[in-house]
Amino acid sequence: MRLILLGPPGAGKGTQAQHLVQRHGIVQLSTGDMLRAAVKAGTPVGLKAKDIMASGGLVPDEVVVGIIADRIEEADAKNGFILDGFPRTVPQAVALDKLLKSKGLALDAVIELRVNEGALLRRVETRIAEMKARGEAVRADDTPEVLSQRLANYRAQTEPLVDYYGEKRKLATIDGMKSIEEVTADIKRVLDALNESAAKPAKTRNKARKPVAKKAKAKKAVKAASAGRTAKKAKVAKKAAKKTVKKAAKKAAPKRAAAKKAKKSAKPAARKAKTTARKGAAKGARKGSKASSRPVKKVTKKPAKTARRLTKRG
Ligand code: AMP
Repeated sequence: MRLILLGPPGAGKGTQAQHLVQRHGIVQLSTGDMLRAAVKAGTPVGLKAKDIMASGGLVPDEVVVGIIADRIEEADAKNGFILDGFPRTVPQAVALDKLLKSKGLALDAVIELRVNEGALLRRVETRIAEMKARGEAVRADDTPEVLSQRLANYRAQTEPLVDYYGEKRKLATIDGMKSIEEVTADIKRVLDALNESAAKPAKTRNKARKPVAKKAKAKKAVKAASAGRTAKKAKVAKKAAKKTVKKAAKKAAPKRAAAKKAKKSAKPAARKAKTTARKGAAKGARKGSKASSRPVKKVTKKPAKTARRLTKRG
């Protein structure tokens, strides 16, 4: 499974990523963590990123794309990964698409944790105060001032990704203001629905599309034929198109005939069953039977609320 967790700083991406790591056995790839490690180790990337990070700015796209390109090559990422804090700009998302495509991989979903910024600021302020009270070190960029800058960056540079992935029908938006457990449960629902729908349509898709594709091909040929350069070419193409349509119809014909036959043979049996049922019901009524006459409720599968958001935002 390959996922992206999208959301402003403090939205709970890291916490939810940890749950997903445990549940799905995939790795969490946090560019923030990787950059902090690089700063600590004093690598060239770290030296480049240090001041930018401390001020709440964004490290250049090519630096983070390079880090991710190397990281997803590693053995532990082969099973899948959760990207946390990446991509953060549209060019990073485009680079990621290219990267995955070149490896024959695809994203499964982008989960957006939507939060209220005011509440987020209060949350971070409380967390900083608590950490200070415990005598713990506070991150250089974990101050209300820097957080405001990071939030502004999120709005300007990262939020456009909501539309980017919405258009690709990869986005699921979840209310990140709920409790950690509720958010975890919502994410689980989205991913379960995704797995279900990924398993189902493949069968029906193949069955349904084949004849349509043939018909479309034939239509295309007819069109090409009418607009054809020479009359002869047009004639040949038209003939070929007609043949394709005929072939498709012929292929479908035995199935239709079989269905008709089955329907015909089922009719007397159904009539008999109906009569028996009517007789039985009359008997039951006479006996003062308590059997419920409520019709069986039709069970229609209702898609999970959150899963519906995996479609284009209207
Ligand atoms: P985070 O831990 O994800 O909040 O990231 C901390 C800081 O690392 C950010 O404020 C940025 O300065 C930098 N950073 C992390 N990920 C990226 C990214 N994808 N693009 C640019 N800068 C990043």
